[in-house]
Amino acid sequence: MSKKSIRDITDSVSEIPFVGKSRAKAFEHLGIMTVEDLLFNLPRQVVDFSCPVKIKDLKLGDKKPILCRVSQIKQNRTFRKKMSITRSLLSDNSGSIEAVWFNQPYLTGAFKTGNEYLFFGEVRPDKYTGRMVCLNPQFYKDAGVYPIYAQTENLTSRQISQALRNAIDAGYVASEYLPSDVLKKNNLPDIQTAIFDLHFPKKIDRYKKAKSRIILNKLIELILANLLIKKENEKSSAKKINVSEFRDSLDRFVEKLPFELTADQLKASSEILSDLQKARPMNRIVQGDVGSGKTIVGVIASLPIIWSGQKAVWLSPTQVLANQHYKNIKKLVGKKIKVSLFTGASKKGDIGKSDLIIGTHALIQKGVKIDSLGLVIVDEQHRFGVKQRENLKSKNKKEIPHFLSLTATPIPRTLSHIIFGNCDISIIYSKPVGRKKIKTFIIPESKRDSSYRFIDKLIEAGQKAFIICPAIGAEFDPEGDKKAVVQEAERVKATVIGKRNIRILHGKMKPKEKEESFRQFAFGKAQVLVSTSVVEVGVDVPEATAMIVEDAHNFGLAQLHQFRGRIGRSDLQSYCFCFSRNLDNSVSRERLKVFVQNDNGFKLAQHDLKLRGPGALLGLNQSGFSGINPIWLEDTSLLLRAKKIADLLMPIMKSDKYLYNKVKSKLKTRHLE
Ligand code: ADP
Ligand code: MG
Repeated sequence: MSKKSIRDITDSVSEIPFVGKSRAKAFEHLGIMTVEDLLFNLPRQVVDFSCPVKIKDLKLGDKKPILCRVSQIKQNRTFRKKMSITRSLLSDNSGSIEAVWFNQPYLTGAFKTGNEYLFFGEVRPDKYTGRMVCLNPQFYKDAGVYPIYAQTENLTSRQISQALRNAIDAGYVASEYLPSDVLKKNNLPDIQTAIFDLHFPKKIDRYKKAKSRIILNKLIELILANLLIKKENEKSSAKKINVSEFRDSLDRFVEKLPFELTADQLKASSEILSDLQKARPMNRIVQGDVGSGKTIVGVIASLPIIWSGQKAVWLSPTQVLANQHYKNIKKLVGKKIKVSLFTGASKKGDIGKSDLIIGTHALIQKGVKIDSLGLVIVDEQHRFGVKQRENLKSKNKKEIPHFLSLTATPIPRTLSHIIFGNCDISIIYSKPVGRKKIKTFIIPESKRDSSYRFIDKLIEAGQKAFIICPAIGAEFDPEGDKKAVVQEAERVKATVIGKRNIRILHGKMKPKEKEESFRQFAFGKAQVLVSTSVVEVGVDVPEATAMIVEDAHNFGLAQLHQFRGRIGRSDLQSYCFCFSRNLDNSVSRERLKVFVQNDNGFKLAQHDLKLRGPGALLGLNQSGFSGINPIWLEDTSLLLRAKKIADLLMPIMKSDKYLYNKVKSKLKTRHLE
């Protein structure tokens, strides 16, 4: 008999029996480093096999459990993609449907012909035969409730489940930090029961309760982390700026701008200026749709800081954006203000001598020390830990810089108060006048060539085009519905726009290559940029007037809107063409229609909010919200409950070492790129 001993859940997953170093790497791809990460890893969905449906009742796009006999298992390889395809016939007494699996060759040995199994997979038209098939179904021998986890190459949901079983058997146990009266009052299972029921539920309602409990923990920790930030902030002071001293200079600056500020831009600016006059560090978010003109508001915020002899740092989520801001802002502020650039790929100007430093998180990682730092502006990036702010802090430990965050994600105000602590919020509702509405269409495959011809004409007239793909290339794409940048760029070369100067851009390119590619598109001869969602945030290329989004159903509404915000940045008419190989699916189709019909980011966000809960808003803009899983925010009432409990725990948090360390560690690790 093996002896159970309590183990430390902060162990690496490689310590779990039968996981080992190489599989631990696969777990890492899913963001699971420690046993604790694994125990708290939320399933992507759960299947309840207690009442399977009949095959004859399955409709295109359905994903429902079925109970079937298996026959005719066969396997072959696709020639072009070198993928293995396993097929088998599933039948019940109402009819039959073919199951198709990609790249799971071992499945041929997993079934016994004639036996019954439970299956769960989406009903889709087969790419090769056009028939309705059940795509990549999960399968089980016994009836029950089965959680399904996000998978990755070399790691299936089933293997994750096995690792969980092994971890629990090996004696890994999570600590409870909720006092028993809180558990009782809220009718919550204790943490150990919750973890067990989350991964090995006997009944679906046990699973649901467990899931809520686990999410509650995550929310409580998040909120506590924010309360901690807030407390630090209250203890600290900032240099007070006498804004009235700079009123005239500010007025002159605004007068010289090539455009007139909108009323909302003015309001946001004046809210910021009044924050700067206080001895407390400002902690403000400026929310405004793409293209609403947040950059200039950030610049206005930095002027009095710089004029009073302090420095400002502008953090961008990507190098591309940092470069662009460097060029644009330098022009805006004129020669008297020294601007420098610091990214992983390039440095321009003398950081020590400059007033405004524009960069990426490389600034923080490389531990760049900036004396008399008065303001940190974070563009399109919401999570930003105390630790990082501390790293940027000048020698005077008690004073911390003012803090301004610019975001296009329209989180409802009440929600942001909970998620981000008590930040102040300024909202820019309206866009600068004179912008033409971007004409947006869903284009059927049959009209692909004519859309290329259309775009070619725009290019002929000196304009530029984006092509956005959901994948980079050669990734794990079991559903075969994510066009990839690398392949798409090759394919496009054989079309009418193939003669144009085409560049690619994606996150796996070397920083220098990325920079060059983008530079060519924004300022050079390149006319077409085939890119992943790297271009999602902020990029401003006024000549770009056309955009193709490939397999658009892979993106959320808010994210699509972000993409579209890359065009329509001048007074020229712009066009956005969406293609999708999933238009048979009524949900995808309806969602794309909503996108086509709405050009207001707040409205689109409301749709996401209605359709999929507040989490969808955040999840769609992943670059902006590292550290928050959208699933946590599906249920607003849970969020409110978490807030109440967090307020209760705040004063006693330090006495629970486990909880305190957990919350503190949240503040440490944030990725900005
Ligand atoms: P975002 O809010 O997406 O960051 P930007 O700050 O990049 O938007 O602004 C988008 C474009 O609009 C820029 O080219 C900018 O120069 C321009 N712009 C900003 N404010 C105004 C305005 N009040 N009137 C006209 N154009 C403006
Ligand atoms: Mg911006």
